[in-house]
Amino acid sequence: MEGTMKAAVLRDWNDLGVEDVPIPAPGAGEVLVRVSACGLCGTDLKMVQGGFAGRWPPSLPFILGHEWSGEVVELGPGLDPGDLAFDVGSRVVAENHAGCGACAMCRSGSYNLCERVRRPGYRLYGHTAPGALAEYAVRPATVLHPIPEEISDLAGALVNQGALTVHALRRVQFRAGSSVAVFGPGLLGLLSASVARAAGATTVIVVGRGRRLELARQMGANAVVDYEAVDPVTGVREHTGGRGVDYAFDCSGNPAVIPQALDSVRRGGKVAVLGLAAGREAGISPDRLVLDEIDLLGIRSSPNAYPAMIALMGSGAVDVSPILTHVYGIDEVDRAFQALKSREAIRPIVKL
Ligand SMILES: [Zn+2]
Ligand SMILES: [Zn+2]
Repeated sequence: MEGTMKAAVLRDWNDLGVEDVPIPAPGAGEVLVRVSACGLCGTDLKMVQGGFAGRWPPSLPFILGHEWSGEVVELGPGLDPGDLAFDVGSRVVAENHAGCGACAMCRSGSYNLCERVRRPGYRLYGHTAPGALAEYAVRPATVLHPIPEEISDLAGALVNQGALTVHALRRVQFRAGSSVAVFGPGLLGLLSASVARAAGATTVIVVGRGRRLELARQMGANAVVDYEAVDPVTGVREHTGGRGVDYAFDCSGNPAVIPQALDSVRRGGKVAVLGLAAGREAGISPDRLVLDEIDLLGIRSSPNAYPAMIALMGSGAVDVSPILTHVYGIDEVDRAFQALKSREAIRPIVKL
């Protein structure tokens, strides 16, 4: 498709402007997608500020955006609809990368850990290759998943983060009938609570503060701990008869929370860390890890987890509507980032 499109272009650090740029053309095996909605996350904000300068993005100008939904408008050369799960007109969501497909990690299915991810030319969309804060985006067909009509364009923009929580549940080998503590009721924390509940958690305790705890209750928490009012470890343990939870999910991005999460699980419990800590370190007790056999697990991205998250949302098992509160036009992208920075919005979403 010839022509130009509007895109939010990062021209310099802290300088994001809406510009007309050429609509990208899909190459072999690629698909042109009209973007419907694109969420903004903390990583995007950090990238705007130059927090990952030289790596994410590798150079300027750059188009951000990696949490999005859209509609297929054109199949690139070599693609046959008969071989795909979608066609022109299908509504889709996109993973951020496909992996190289050839390294040992990709071949084992862990393409989130592709060994070539830092090689020049590796395409991590929205980080090292053009993102979706634009009217159109090109992606390999292999990263796209169709979504049913039950998932709105706005809700579709949350599949990316939801799939990450599905991956976290798989990493801890989650079992139905268990107890979960979630630290940090941002988007990942709220989705973790909701997905854990849908997966059969019978006790879901969210640790945080302020009005986000109300939202946590709407999203499936049946207990909340306000860490400004009570010690978070004591609070979590009180809700489990003193025993500790089976699983703790740290979605806070604050390394000081990791020791709290470790102290909140029962003997043999598991702690999953979902948030990056921007280079800061955490002090943990090896004795607790060893004597109580605690599993401490890092969670990166969402390999093979999009279909499950789409099914959870499409069936109504996970309802993200309470989060869809802050929607902006592309010309308001600065305001959208402001709402993220001020913590007014859990997830500002740009509607295109
Ligand atoms: Zn993100
Ligand atoms: Zn690979």
